[in-house]
Amino acid sequence: MPYAIPRPAVQPLSQILPDEAVLMMGAGPVPIPQAVAHANSLVINHLGSTMAQVIDQVKKMARYVFQTESPYILGVAGPGSAAMEMSVANLVEAGDRVLCLVNGYFSGRLAEMARRAGADVTECPVPLGECATPALVAQWLDQVQPRVLTLVQGETSNTTWNRHLPAIARLASDRGCLVIVDAVCTLSTMPLEMDAWGIDAVITGGQKGLSSIPGVSLVALSHRAFERILARRAPTVQWCLDAKLANAFWNEGKYHYTAPTSGVLALHEALRLVCEETLERRFARHRACSTSLQAGIEALGLALFVQGSARLNSVVGIQVPEAVNADAVRLAMTQRHRVEISGSFGLPILRIGQMGEQSRAHNLFRTLHALGSSLKDCGATVDLPGGMSALEASLATHHAAL
Ligand SMILES: *Cc1c(COP(=O)(O)O)cnc(C)c1O
Repeated sequence: MPYAIPRPAVQPLSQILPDEAVLMMGAGPVPIPQAVAHANSLVINHLGSTMAQVIDQVKKMARYVFQTESPYILGVAGPGSAAMEMSVANLVEAGDRVLCLVNGYFSGRLAEMARRAGADVTECPVPLGECATPALVAQWLDQVQPRVLTLVQGETSNTTWNRHLPAIARLASDRGCLVIVDAVCTLSTMPLEMDAWGIDAVITGGQKGLSSIPGVSLVALSHRAFERILARRAPTVQWCLDAKLANAFWNEGKYHYTAPTSGVLALHEALRLVCEETLERRFARHRACSTSLQAGIEALGLALFVQGSARLNSVVGIQVPEAVNADAVRLAMTQRHRVEISGSFGLPILRIGQMGEQSRAHNLFRTLHALGSSLKDCGATVDLPGGMSALEASLATHHAAL
């Protein structure tokens, strides 16, 4: 008697995945180093002395990367958004006033999460392509008197950098307001000093700046933040994201849920490579690669989306020339050149990631060539040799940082 639901006909992965992998140069996930890929292929027990040693090192390395002495480094099985939700759900209680700086899609997601946590949310809108200024934020802080402030360091969706983060965090922190910072795309690509800047929760994912795999993320909480959690009137609704339960695993070796051991091992290797490179050298490499790519894009004859000092280096936004179909350009890049970049959320821009392994000279040449050549095929007028030569010239001046 055959089953009512018949057996499906499927292809093995070997027929779906190309022999030559596509180079992922979009807004994440990003290519991973071999050590990370190998670690991700292992499964170990989530409890016991081996895992304890791994967790201990992950926390030590994360403290360096987050620049914090806090013991509250917590992992979460989930995407960057789960780390965002873990921060918001634990630090926000129903009825709390929360101020959210919104300059794009991801900062707006933090506001939405705070609303779902029952907060009385005030959104401080920031004009598209601009960063929030300390003067503006001071005004809103005084007017709203929030218990929690949320913002992103880099708004991946439209490539804006909140460059005044240190001053803004200080303003909030001095007023006793907790500061939640989403650093999913920026962590380890540019400076972020959790303790020195007075930040209470730093959120990161695996698949962007850290060049690890998607699905395992980290949150760092300050002492002040953890005290606020211990003093909650009601327990955190989301059991899996409960910071107290997560802390029991991450700091006391007690069972919470079965940790994603492969992903934690991958994260261990990604963090180890950051430590080996050092933050100073890693930031310099990202700056050199991103600014050289930007110089190459402009020399192609294209305009960058964000002007001046609000421009993010971790993800580069490019204005699509009028009469050119951005999706057709991306399709040509993938099919003919095997390079993938990102479109955007409704904006007429293309985005190229400069996170972790994406910031390597050989990847820049391949990507800029694929972009210029595909734009040409789609009817745009671009100076391809000019762009390539500007990239080469800029990289040469930054040679020591590569
Ligand atoms: C990618 C990203 C997120 C979301 O991460 P997921 O892993 O997709 O959940 C959040 N914030 C920023 C700034 C991001 O770049």
